Amino acid sequence: MFDSLGELKRTHYCGELRVADAGRNVVLMGWVHRRRDLGQLIFLDLRDRAGICQVVCNRDQYPEAHAKADEVRPEYVVAVEGRVFRRQKPNPDLATGAVEIMATNVRILNNAKTPPFQIEDNVSANEETRLRYRYLDLRRSKPHANIALRHRVVFEIRKALDALGFYEIETPVLSRATPEGARDYLVPSRVHHGQFYALPQSPQIFKQILMISGMDRYFQIVHCFRDEDLRADRQPEFTQLDLEMSFPRQQDIFETIERVMERAMGVSGVTLKRPFRHMLYKDAIRRYGSDKPDLRFGMELHDATKFFEPARETFGFAGNVYALVAPGAAAWSRKQLDDLVEQAKSAGAKAAYTIKVAAEGITSSLEKTLGADALKEIAKATGAKKGDLIVAVAAKEEIKGTDAAALAAGQLRLKLGEQLNLIDKDKWEFLWITGFPLFEWSTTEKQWVSAQHPFTGIIEEDLDKIDDEEKRGEVRSKGYDLVANGVELGSGSIRIHRQDVQARVFKALGLSDETAKQRFGFFLDALTYGTPPHGGIALGIDRMVAMMAGEKSIREVIAFPKTTAAQDLMAESPSEVGAEQLDDLGIELKRTVE
Ligand code: ASP
Repeated sequence: MFDSLGELKRTHYCGELRVADAGRNVVLMGWVHRRRDLGQLIFLDLRDRAGICQVVCNRDQYPEAHAKADEVRPEYVVAVEGRVFRRQKPNPDLATGAVEIMATNVRILNNAKTPPFQIEDNVSANEETRLRYRYLDLRRSKPHANIALRHRVVFEIRKALDALGFYEIETPVLSRATPEGARDYLVPSRVHHGQFYALPQSPQIFKQILMISGMDRYFQIVHCFRDEDLRADRQPEFTQLDLEMSFPRQQDIFETIERVMERAMGVSGVTLKRPFRHMLYKDAIRRYGSDKPDLRFGMELHDATKFFEPARETFGFAGNVYALVAPGAAAWSRKQLDDLVEQAKSAGAKAAYTIKVAAEGITSSLEKTLGADALKEIAKATGAKKGDLIVAVAAKEEIKGTDAAALAAGQLRLKLGEQLNLIDKDKWEFLWITGFPLFEWSTTEKQWVSAQHPFTGIIEEDLDKIDDEEKRGEVRSKGYDLVANGVELGSGSIRIHRQDVQARVFKALGLSDETAKQRFGFFLDALTYGTPPHGGIALGIDRMVAMMAGEKSIREVIAFPKTTAAQDLMAESPSEVGAEQLDDLGIELKRTVE
């Protein structure tokens, strides 16, 4: 049954034939998407990465081609020689729908088992089956388009950075721990028993060392590995656009990224407004209750603390109270309001209080405690109109350095934005967030930890506060985040380039000289040999492409993603290894894996 490819050369992709090709002799190769047998005629829908084209095999005219077509089944691999004809009845659903191929010869290059699911856009299989048979899943047009989009985006990024004088430099994968705050993946050394490489959480230290090496401008499209607790949309390995520049002003890094984003987004036909907006971290929290505000819609937070002050003890809340105006939601049912309060609570709020601004007047259960006048004042202060619902959010407890009520209100804002359909999904709102605190209070570790990573630069005036435990929370960093549509696409900073400052930061983080030396000694050393001021950023490529592709999950834009349980279902990794291999590594398992 099988034929060989021999010297046969493909002339076109199936998906690219158009009316203008009518009359051409073509050679196509691909997979049998569908086969319809009408006796005298057999129709094959032939598929390749560019699309699908209809092939007709006529028993009277080309009996051998027809006989071959009789044998094929879905997903068989075939080569078709034939001539392009204009169809009498075009198929408007197909890009190639105006033409079909009259097959003169069909070669069967390979057969195929019946796939566990049909290769259709509206795939019926669940994600687990799709990932187990990822090679079949990738044959569908949407995953195909996503991977192609990713290629074009990454290619544009490379071109843009090359034009700006950046070198693409690879850094080691077998490395040592990098302080990005997650757990490391470790690789045992066979040669040095008891010693381990760590897979890089980012190339942070290496890229800074490249600046010390005088490389001036570095970038890399790089895999980073973080063994984090499972969250819906995280991958144990993910791809960053990582870059670093010497002697930069913050503005230079922003401009570089804005140019890169402009070109990358151009792949999807999106035109970006440059320069991007800027917002201070404290304003982002205060106005939107988030350090990554979604600016595709308004609904800003209003500080309503003073109105709630008289009820602080009765209600038993902590910190501030923030109010949001949900346009047109005054008519919401009891059930909708209860859901809203539940949502606020699960976002960390102590409570959410609602005030209806209806045509008949302002109504709220708050009236008893706050009085009717206060309600009117709140409505005035928030600018609520008739028909609107005011939702005020208060926090359970105060957490050092954070405004818990604002954060809860910010989450509610996003939910309301979705629920009330206020978000324009075609919009792209990029912005830079600056003025982050250098340290944040860790409630679990009960100490100050780096808000980003310990190499982040410090606003000069705040330098002396780092040694003062009390003032540490006020120290501002030279860090910045790039946010798009409420998603943090990346973060970076102007770095610390002086060894003495770096040592003070390690100390403030509670790292003894000895530990700092043991973990970062080589880096501290390198800093003393003429380190230029430098800075950089890393952007998440997976998230960026997923957003461009309109996909919710980054798994849809990664060729071979892992599940939320950090498994590759196709390659079946992680997997057990043999006793011999463990022995080579000098490793003995504590427990046998069940
Ligand atoms: N290494 C940082 C990260 O992975 C980015 C940077 O500071 O450039 O988040």
